[in-house]
Order: sequence, then C-alpha cells, then structure tokens
Amino acid sequence: AQNAKESLYIVSQFAATFFEDQLWNNSEGKAIGLSYFKERGFREDIIKKFNLGYSPDVWDALTQDAVKNKHAEEYLEKTGLSIRNDKGKLYDRFRGRVMFPIHNFTGRVIGFGGRTLKTDKNVPKYVNSPESEIYHKSNVLYGLFHAKKAIRDLDNCYLVEGYADVLSVHQAYIENVVASSGTSLTIEQIRLIGRFTQNVTILYDGDAAGIKASLRGLDMILEEGLNVKVVSFPAGDDPDSYMHKVGAGEFKTYIENNRQDFILYKANILLAEAGNDPIKRAGIIRDIVESIAKIPDNIKASVFIRECSSLLAIEERVLLSELNTMRAAKF
Ligand code: ATP
Ligand code: MN
Ligand code: MN
Ligand code: MN
Repeated sequence: AQNAKESLYIVSQFAATFFEDQLWNNSEGKAIGLSYFKERGFREDIIKKFNLGYSPDVWDALTQDAVKNKHAEEYLEKTGLSIRNDKGKLYDRFRGRVMFPIHNFTGRVIGFGGRTLKTDKNVPKYVNSPESEIYHKSNVLYGLFHAKKAIRDLDNCYLVEGYADVLSVHQAYIENVVASSGTSLTIEQIRLIGRFTQNVTILYDGDAAGIKASLRGLDMILEEGLNVKVVSFPAGDDPDSYMHKVGAGEFKTYIENNRQDFILYKANILLAEAGNDPIKRAGIIRDIVESIAKIPDNIKASVFIRECSSLLAIEERVLLSELNTMRAAKF
C-alpha cells in the first residue's frame, strides 16, 4: 500500500511538471494560460512559486505523455488525472484550464484545481481532483506548504475562499494565508491550522455566500477553541479582486485597519438585517450569545459577554444567564 501511495505522488508530480511546462514553454499554453494569469495581474514570481500550469485543450495530452513516460494507467485513474470512457479509453480530466497544483503541507503534489477560461455559465468554473488515497480534501488547506512558516512566525493565519485569493494575498507580501478550496471549511482543516497558530482571521468574499460561510466558519473555529477575527470586503469583491483594485500596499493597510473581532462583525451584520424591529434585535442577542457559548474557555467567554453587553446595551447579568442556559442545553 505504501508503494501504491508513492506511485500516486509520483504521477501527480509528473502531471504538475507537465502542466507547468505547458504554461511556460508551449505556444498554446503561453498564449492562453500565461496571458490569462498576466491579465489577472499575477506576477511571474507568484505564478512560479505556486507552480501554476495549463492543461491543453485536447482530449488526452497529459494521459499520452504520462503513458509514454511509463506511468501506469492505474495510477492516472486513481489520482483522477485520467478518466476511462465507456469504450475503455483514458482521457484527461483537465482540459483547456489553468491549473493550480495542491500541495500537502510537506510540499508534495496531491491534487489539482483547474479553472476554466470560458465565460460560459454552463461550464463549471473550477474542476478539482477527486478524493484519492493521497488527496482527502477535507484535510487539506490550499497554500499551507507555502504559508506554514509565516503562520508560525506571525502567529496568525488568514483564511480565504479560493485559489486566486491565496495568490493575491501572497502577492501583497502577506504569506500567512490558506484557502479551504474545493469544500466548505471543515473541523479537520481548523485543527490543521491549530498546529501552527491559535489565531485565525477570516477574509471571505463580500457576497451573500461569503458572509454566510464566514458566520458558519467562525462558529466552528470558536468551537475548536481558536481565536477568530474577520475582515469584510466591499460587496462584490473578494481578497483577490480587492488586492488588484487597490494595490498591494493599500491592501495590507486595509486588512490591518479593518480587522473586527467576531462579536462586532456578527453584530454589525445582524443589526443591519434587523433594523429597528425589537423582536429581531432580541434574536440577534441570542444568536451572538450562541457563538460565545461555543468558546470552551470560560474566562475568554466572559470577556466576550462583557463586550457584547456594552455593544448591545444589555445587562451582563442577562447575557450570562442566557449563556448558562445554552451551555446547559449542550450537555
Ligand atoms: P476566480 O477569482 O478565479 O473567479 P474564485 O476563487 O473567486 O474564482 P468563487 O466563486 O469565489 O471563485 O469560489 C471560491 C472557491 O470555491 C474557488 O476558488 C474554488 O476552490 C471553489 N469553487 C468555485 N466554483 C467551483 C465549482 N464549480 N466546483 C468546485 N469548486 C468550485
Ligand atoms: Mn464567492
Ligand atoms: Mn471569490
Ligand atoms: Mn475571485
């Protein structure tokens, strides 16, 4: 089994090298893939650092090259790089896409995300590798290999939604950033972060989906006993688009000046939704106390209760009794 796994790593690395070579040295790759990254504003050093690539827009370019280089069909199939059609022939999963290799935290390639260059709504924007013996998406954070040292040194991890966000935040000289790409944030991913730091800052997209995901994510992070802050972006922007809009320097300043603790972040979102309706406002208070109730550490929880009390002008005693009720209900 160990040997079989090793073969999956080897064929994945072969594919990463193939895609990267296509991007830099093939005329189609350069004209389509490299131009695409450049038009999005990615610098060459970032494109190289993350080993970005291009998959040719033909049926079986990678499959053929891999077989020619003596890689067994079995491993091409098991990594999902190749798919067998009903006539028994292998073809490439990734065709005509820009490629983001996914590394595990020791730096080995375990899978890929491929982005379409088409604007056709019927084509999925991203295609990802399927689960395999070496790629369990719920346990992987995109960018962790390139981020782990900075996460430790700076004792904070920025969490974004997508591949492009990781690249753009790096391009702004902020290296402690990872994405939960290809899945919504999992407990395993939070525990993985927890091996490097206890502090997470969520930088999700400024759209309805991003806000919803951030609220869910922050509860999960609190429940794992980590500290969480949030930076929100203007509606319609994600960290990637915002960085390219304002530039690296201003982006960094924005992140530093707009970091909110989770109570303030949650309160602002919920209060804006509730307006002046007193019943809705009462619901918000419960909702926020529910998040606080997830914090395992009592002292930390009581600090947040105090903050919540002054922010929402509710007596601490009332909030504490609500907190205790919720905690009791959990057991
Ligand atoms: P881009 O900036 O390249 O347009 P994005 O990262 O901003 O992409 P989002 O729509 O915000 O795209 O999605 C966030 C992440 O969710 C993506 O980076 C990708 O990992 C994942 N994702 C998006 N669309 C799909 C899809 N159709 N299938 C699988 N994963 C997807
Ligand atoms: Mn989005
Ligand atoms: Mn996005
Ligand atoms: Mn984007």
